[in-house]
Amino acid sequence: MERVRIVFMGQSYEVPALSTVLQALEGVGYQFVRGVGCRGGLCGACAFLGHLEGEEQIRPGLACQSIVADGLHISPMPSYPVIRPLHALEGRPATYETVRDAYPELLRCIGCNTCTRVCPQDIPVMDLLSATFRNDFFRIADKSFDCILCGLCAARCPADIAPFNIFLYVRRLSGRHLTPASHDVAKRVEGIEAGTFEEELDRLMSAGKEELEQAFRGFQAARSGN
Ligand code: SF4
Ligand code: SF4
Repeated sequence: MERVRIVFMGQSYEVPALSTVLQALEGVGYQFVRGVGCRGGLCGACAFLGHLEGEEQIRPGLACQSIVADGLHISPMPSYPVIRPLHALEGRPATYETVRDAYPELLRCIGCNTCTRVCPQDIPVMDLLSATFRNDFFRIADKSFDCILCGLCAARCPADIAPFNIFLYVRRLSGRHLTPASHDVAKRVEGIEAGTFEEELDRLMSAGKEELEQAFRGFQAARSGN
């Protein structure tokens, strides 16, 4: 099996060439309590920054989705420090001004597009940030829906902007003020308040592992129509 050399925490390791960064690190003995989640590219917990020896360019990615490369130096990024102001919804219209007041750093964007280039979800990050100026909230809400809050866009932004927080606020404002109310959701909330699901929830809370696995398989089969 072909092997490549990676560097982590100052140590070199020979790892299988086709393994993901996460598989490679776990394969050489690291156990992650933080910085790993779903392992399927959906939770955004395992972001990392890396670089290849001889290259200046930083290579960001998700450790569970990125394949190792020879000479890859890996720095995990389990979280990135950003400030998230209160996302007030009542009395705040879904407009650019509301978003700008909460996130004035939006005006510091220099249009470098780094955020778009690093996004593992292929979200047109810079384009969506500029869409806030046009009050194009439906588009932002739709196109940013796949954001997994991995933090890579914020980590690489030279203007210290956290686009994912701005998108989150736009989606919340959009959901509160622009999207028509869902009758199905209202009906489900009514059911919850009336205690319709209490018995089933109690049963699941006291179920053993096997019963839970069986219930999960049944749920999956029902969803796929089998
Ligand atoms: S928009 Fe930012 S936080 Fe969201 S997936 Fe892309 S890089 Fe990660
Ligand atoms: S990385 Fe920051 S400064 Fe560059 S386009 Fe994205 S938000 Fe603007």
